[in-house]
Amino acid sequence: RAKSAGRNRLVAFVPEMTLAAQRRAQLEAELRRAIEQEALLPYYQPQFDCRTGAMVGVEALLRWPHPERGFVSPAEFIPVAEDTGLIVELGRWVLRRACADLAAWDRAGAPPLTVAVNVSARQLKEPDFLGDVLAALHASGLAPGRLELELTESLLMDDVECAVAFMHAVRAAGVRLSIDDFGTGYSSLAYLQSFPINQLKVDRKFVQSLPVAGHTIATAVIALARGFGLAVVAEGVERQEQLDWLRAAGCDHAQGFLLGMPMPAAQLLATATAPRTAALT
Ligand code: C2E
Ligand code: MG
Ligand code: MG
Ligand code: MG
Repeated sequence: RAKSAGRNRLVAFVPEMTLAAQRRAQLEAELRRAIEQEALLPYYQPQFDCRTGAMVGVEALLRWPHPERGFVSPAEFIPVAEDTGLIVELGRWVLRRACADLAAWDRAGAPPLTVAVNVSARQLKEPDFLGDVLAALHASGLAPGRLELELTESLLMDDVECAVAFMHAVRAAGVRLSIDDFGTGYSSLAYLQSFPINQLKVDRKFVQSLPVAGHTIATAVIALARGFGLAVVAEGVERQEQLDWLRAAGCDHAQGFLLGMPMPAAQLLATATAPRTAALT
């Protein structure tokens, strides 16, 4: 009986799995083509100093304008890029673009921003990922301290030894490191002591429920960052009351739709050279 039920289940699931696999194969083929044709592009979301209101940096966020489906979300195509290994080439390209764009904004008279680039676990496993990072800096002429790599807790825990070795090498080169989505992953607090990082990013989940529900964790993350001498940035700030709470709590930097959407490079330059945002004045 169990056996036949199992067989039935198998039969019932096969068409669905095939459909998902087909869709994924199609997405993979389209992504491969899009990368070849350089159809993807980074958008940049500004980050602000909570005390002074000045724009201090940007985060590079990949966008894929698809001819039929509009903008495909990175939440959809980054996992495909990771599984297929395409993320290695794509990640290398984003690093170069982000550094080149920042250098161009410098030349155009923008204030000295930092640029944060998201890194996948798969990239960290590349034997010469550090070489890619240094090559992007070298090609753009940027000082290493202008570049920040965003690593997630799960990436760090995937192979802690490898990650720690990478982090020390990157820090020795002068590049900055931050932990993205902090508080949502599986890392142990004990590791924070041995991770040579510069910054924690409070996950949007905790910011979203401020000031009523998220404040216990947000307060704890800010205190943790203080204790370790790290900077802290809140992501996903959408409402003025969230920003007011974060400023009062001593959060260093803020990023979110309230302060600025992710935008194309040219628009970021215009924003960076314009008078500061009303929410922070
Ligand atoms: P993330 O690194 O945590 O990026 C923050 C995400 O929150 C971005 O989503 C951003 O557009 C969104 N966001 C910013 N402010 C707000 C806000 O106020 N409210 C809300 N609801 N959302 C906000 P996005 O651009 O869709 O990217 C999703 C994820 O895809 C990123 O999460 C990152 O993990 C990944 N990703 C994006 N670009 C790259 C890349 O170049 N390389 C890698 N490896 N991953 C990337
Ligand atoms: Mg990020
Ligand atoms: Mg994040
Ligand atoms: Mg994320």
